[in-house]
Amino acid sequence: MLDAFDRYPLTFGPSPIEPLNRLSADLGGGVEIWAKREDCNSGLAFGGNKLRKLEYIVPDAIAEGADTLVTIGGVQSNHTRQVAAVAAKLGMKCRLVQESWVPFPDAVYDRVGNILMSRVMGAEIELVDEGFDIGIRESWENALEDVRAKGGKPYAIPAGASVHKFGGLGYVGFAEEVRAQEAELGFRFDYIVVCTVTGSTHAGMMVGFAADGRARNVVGIDASLTIEQTRAQVMEIARNTADLVGVEISEEDLTLIPDYAYPAYGVPSEETNAAIRRVARLEGMMTDPVYEGKSMQGLIGLVEKGWFPAGSRVLYAHLGGVPAINGYSYLYRNG
Ligand SMILES: *Cc1c(COP(=O)(O)O)cnc(C)c1O
Repeated sequence: MLDAFDRYPLTFGPSPIEPLNRLSADLGGGVEIWAKREDCNSGLAFGGNKLRKLEYIVPDAIAEGADTLVTIGGVQSNHTRQVAAVAAKLGMKCRLVQESWVPFPDAVYDRVGNILMSRVMGAEIELVDEGFDIGIRESWENALEDVRAKGGKPYAIPAGASVHKFGGLGYVGFAEEVRAQEAELGFRFDYIVVCTVTGSTHAGMMVGFAADGRARNVVGIDASLTIEQTRAQVMEIARNTADLVGVEISEEDLTLIPDYAYPAYGVPSEETNAAIRRVARLEGMMTDPVYEGKSMQGLIGLVEKGWFPAGSRVLYAHLGGVPAINGYSYLYRNG
């Protein structure tokens, strides 16, 4: 599906798929849970899902002769950290706008984890006092203008590398990779569980799995708590990506579960923390309080209420994000 598009390799190759046997058993054994480890997909600053998207965006930045990657996210954004790593790897500059998307008061929140790494990797960081929004922001437009005014050639990467003409392609490739891995495993996954916020991870998977009739088996767990905007953005990216690769997609193909994003974007609930501790203690697999902890909470919640038919094989897409847990040091001071 992707032969017509340039790809700049930023990942190690196919990310591993492994069974989560102790979690499956702990949840009653009725459903087989596996994980695809996108959190271990690259040597670039701990990896994650944005690198897979950026593989199809970087060729465009290089073709345009850009010298500075400009992007935006929250203070503990995984996306901005991955863009900073890519800029370093390409020998480009990096300009990051980081907004106060998360109402979380930890004393070290703006010192550790993702933002620490972005600073060490040489990104120029501007902290802006604006709340959560997955759309296009004025602060980002201003940063682009500032780079131009200083004689640089900025390349604009939107929040989460999502609302970009090629933002959905990386996760179309994820679906093709899963199909190849399924051929080796000798079975097909019935469901793919993914965390959804800026939307192109889910949208790309929908398009990629539409090729074998599984678009609606991609189960998005919303972590934005702005469900209508997120639904609309996933559908827009899915339609654009479907047009690019030449497949059909419709509103009925979108499965997006709104029930686990509370109490706010970036703030874990008691149930989120229980899910993070449970999978950490059963599998040694770390998840974060912003994204993967919520999709793990959703996966556990759906299994517990019998949402997946007995015997289903469920693939949990672990998209990365663990560095952000450092920003929640007080919350986990006793584990
Ligand atoms: C960005 C991110 C997501 C959400 O992916 P979108 O494509 O923005 O919907 C989920 N998990 C982690 C760890 C992320 O960094």
